[in-house]
Amino acid sequence: MTALLDVRDLTVAFETPRGRTEVVRDVSFELAPGASLGIVGESGSGKSMTSLAVMDLLPPGATRRGSIRLAGTELTTLPPREMRKVRGARVAMIFQDPLSCLNPYYTVGLQISEAYRAHRPRATRREARRAAVEAMERVHIPHAAERVDHYPHQFSGGMRQRVMIAMALSGEPELLIADEPTTALDVTVQKQILDLIAEIRRDTGAGLVMITHDLAVVSEIADDVLVMQHGDVVEQGGAEQVFSRPRHPYTRRLLEAVP
Ligand code: ADP
Ligand code: MG
Repeated sequence: MTALLDVRDLTVAFETPRGRTEVVRDVSFELAPGASLGIVGESGSGKSMTSLAVMDLLPPGATRRGSIRLAGTELTTLPPREMRKVRGARVAMIFQDPLSCLNPYYTVGLQISEAYRAHRPRATRREARRAAVEAMERVHIPHAAERVDHYPHQFSGGMRQRVMIAMALSGEPELLIADEPTTALDVTVQKQILDLIAEIRRDTGAGLVMITHDLAVVSEIADDVLVMQHGDVVEQGGAEQVFSRPRHPYTRRLLEAVP
């Protein structure tokens, strides 16, 4: 079976006046359709750069090398036009801080509608608005029909993350990449968002890459785990095996740090 996502020898480097720094080194992993992979590691280990490389959204000055295949299609050589169609429609991303992704002056309904219309050019505004309300209901935002007209700052952190998830689902992606989606949230809200992500996986069959520094999150949601340290993969395998029999001292240290 063709992997949903097949990343081979991905290296990401920054060119600076002082030279070249590799922040992701020869990372390889495979994700089967509908499967979930947790990428863990401390801050600065290269988790975000790995996911941004997949989306071709690396910051200026960063270059990537290696192969990234989505259901057999090589993404690294896709023309930018084609890559724009992949983002959102086939692979959607959720970030740690929804406020940095939402326009403060537009209602969430408008922003979800726009995301919806970006993938369905023939949809009318009315249809898109209805889809936005439905999407908000799907992620269990109460009173969606009224809240669709509210602005990002009128939502709590957890509700804002639900808005981001609603937006991410608007293109019906095959793959969801979540980069620390619960890190900025209170513990009880973290659990609710994780449950929602698990529910969406069940309902849509989408694959999931869950990036986190929190091993508890991974043990809850991931089939496989990849442990990164300073840009290198130090351990990877089935979540259960990695958690019960960690081979690398770094993984053991991460596990010991879990309360
Ligand atoms: P993580 O998500 O695991 O916390 P990142 O992938 O964000 O780590 O970062 C990996 C490394 O890349 C870090 O050492 C970080 O300092 C470096 N880095 C991130 N962004 C830039 C940038 N714009 N310029 C130079 N280095 C960067
Ligand atoms: Mg990060």
